[in-house]
Amino acid sequence: MNYPETAMTIQETSIDENLNNYAAENSPEYLKVSLAAAMTLGMVPGLFYRNACLHCVNVLLTYNDGCRANCAYCGLQKSREGNYNDKSFIRVDWPAFKTENIIKRTLEKKDVIHRICISMITHEKAKEDTFAILRNFSKNLHCPTSILLTPTILKHSDIDKFKEYGADMVTVALDCATPELFDEYRGTGVKGPHKWDKYNDTLDYSVSVFGKNKVGCHLVVGLGETEKEMIFRIQDVRNKGARSHLFSFYQEKGSKLDSHPQCPAGQFRRVQVARHIIDYDMSHAEDMEFDNSGKVIDFGIPFKDVAKIVETGTAFRTTGCPGKSEISACNRPFGDSSPRNIRSFPFELNASDIARVRKELLEYE
Ligand code: SF4
Ligand code: SF4
Repeated sequence: MNYPETAMTIQETSIDENLNNYAAENSPEYLKVSLAAAMTLGMVPGLFYRNACLHCVNVLLTYNDGCRANCAYCGLQKSREGNYNDKSFIRVDWPAFKTENIIKRTLEKKDVIHRICISMITHEKAKEDTFAILRNFSKNLHCPTSILLTPTILKHSDIDKFKEYGADMVTVALDCATPELFDEYRGTGVKGPHKWDKYNDTLDYSVSVFGKNKVGCHLVVGLGETEKEMIFRIQDVRNKGARSHLFSFYQEKGSKLDSHPQCPAGQFRRVQVARHIIDYDMSHAEDMEFDNSGKVIDFGIPFKDVAKIVETGTAFRTTGCPGKSEISACNRPFGDSSPRNIRSFPFELNASDIARVRKELLEYE
């Protein structure tokens, strides 16, 4: 299992056997739960580093024969060796539990849990099972549901159904900033099924169904794009009426990109600030300035306003679907870095965190 550093402290290795029959069962009766969510729900014992309290339960469809796609950076890619149920995803393990127990535990944590998210995978059963799970959640849970869509297996009418069955928000994981990188890492370059145009069409159509600011787009920083390419992608997503949720690329052991380096901290910090400015309509990518290698040298707003953004620290926190406030309920603790070198902060930054990100923002390698 890939769990390189102590993001969360596991006090015991055992998982409650009454709740868990993992490895052998499939969705919709079973779902994988992110380790952080499983800890929050009391299904796995452990403590969060710096009390990185979670407000979103992230669940993932599970099938013994796994995801059919082959995305080069993903821990669930079909060509990665090992049993699907033992594979990590965005750095952490995802133990499987009965869906009915996840609902029960989520209701017991009503005060803390402000959202639940169903992540689809590329599998012939995934669409119908997501409909069934969504209807179950809409009927039985207190909180809104997000769906992380797999456009490759969806038609426009399916997006309509997600809305009809009670989804509050949907997200498309474009992940790559450019069509070339997308094709190399998710499409023909890895003999994968995904297509750039299909993903963008799903993003457009989703905004027409769910409305402005009710659709997200996952983007992974550091797959080989320049800062300028990523920032213009974020602007394009914003022009569609959606907002971007950033991840710093992190090597998933055993994936095709397990030796690809993580991007420099300065690159991620500048993209975080630019995303904040674009997604909250303070400026546009067209008004920003870049050096010859595509690095940001001017954010298109007065320096004092950039300084204010840095001081508040919000731009550096995990971005995702909101909870009761605009701050992301989905804080994915340490999903893109170790807790010793945090990229997306799952909690409010303290003075020493602010000093660190300010320094990193000015690092040009
Ligand atoms: S479709 Fe999603 S889960 Fe499947 S390999 Fe690609 S990124 Fe991973
Ligand atoms: S940001 Fe979080 S809650 Fe929203 S779709 Fe992505 S994983 Fe789900």
